[in-house]
Amino acid sequence: MIKFLDLQKINVAHQQEIEERLLQTFRSGWYLLGNEVKTFEQNLKHYLDAEEVIGVANGLDALRLILRGYIEMGVMQPGDEVIVPANTYIASILAISDNGLVPVLIEPDLHTYNVDIDKIEEKITAKTKAVMIVHLYGRVVWSEELLALANKHQLKIIEDNAQAIGAEWNGVKTGNLGDAAGFSFYPGKNLGALGDGGAVSCKDAELGKVIRALANYGSNQKYVNIYKGLNSRLDELHAAALDVKLKYIDAENDRRRAIAKRYIAEINNESIILPEQPETGAEHVWHLFVIRTENREKLQAFLTDNGVQTLIHYPVPPHKQQCYSELNHFIFPITEKIHEEVLSLPISPVMEDEEVTTITKILNQFSC
Ligand SMILES: *Cc1c(COP(=O)(O)O)cnc(C)c1O
Repeated sequence: MIKFLDLQKINVAHQQEIEERLLQTFRSGWYLLGNEVKTFEQNLKHYLDAEEVIGVANGLDALRLILRGYIEMGVMQPGDEVIVPANTYIASILAISDNGLVPVLIEPDLHTYNVDIDKIEEKITAKTKAVMIVHLYGRVVWSEELLALANKHQLKIIEDNAQAIGAEWNGVKTGNLGDAAGFSFYPGKNLGALGDGGAVSCKDAELGKVIRALANYGSNQKYVNIYKGLNSRLDELHAAALDVKLKYIDAENDRRRAIAKRYIAEINNESIILPEQPETGAEHVWHLFVIRTENREKLQAFLTDNGVQTLIHYPVPPHKQQCYSELNHFIFPITEKIHEEVLSLPISPVMEDEEVTTITKILNQFSC
């Protein structure tokens, strides 16, 4: 069986270094808001070339805290609108509605699966305060037009960078393109912790300060509470493991790129639509390698029968979920088509060349 993602193998590749750092942290007796988090924040900041980095408990909190920070600063208020792609993972949208803000969904481009920038302006109202872009599957979404549009309408650009750490647009890392970004270190992400973890990066030092306080009960001095905050901190143990793995992220993303390149060159089947290579200047990090086919159930069963595990990202779009009954009446044909047809193939830095060959051969034998 070729696993969709072999997390054990991914982490064991750095076993000795991770174990040493974990043991050191364990023995230090200091488990929160200490040197490991500080070191990781510094190294991630340096890696991104960002102004501010704040470790938080998970990726959803990173996005929630950015929006909450803007609310505390008076940049937006509950009832304001945030534009977001309809085909994102639901966490992007939960971060918006959790703050009493209104998610305004827009369709993606069927070829890149990323938000169609040309469809943003028609959705802007007097209440629109931000655009949340999502570098879905690890593919960068950015353009000069987007920046010009945000400046023209005084919108904040928030990046959901949960799937794209290490990706670049003309030499600038994602997470450092917009005003603020949320990162997830969920174990299956390209930079995965040994449990939950996340981070915020932002350009505005004041926003960084507000978010740091919000994540720690709304306080940046013990027992002095400025905001009605939450408890969303990155643990020392996770930071220690992440700091080790951060050193290898570029090499691991390179390996993902090499696998994606082979899939694109070698899969040759009329009933399978492959992802497009990114435009020049954009570095894709292939968090997921997503193909499309009209007969997904049959293809997935065929792969399972031949020993290849696949997953679907995602089977049901957020606007069709029970929890968003207020959005259920919307019809987004491109989003719905994507959710009906996508299938994610195994891709990871520890996949062997022979596994790629095996999967490719099986796919080339499939007929709908
Ligand atoms: C994983 C993910 C999140 C949420 O991150 P968690 O760490 O699981 O909370 C948010 N947005 C996207 C696009 C994601 O893939």
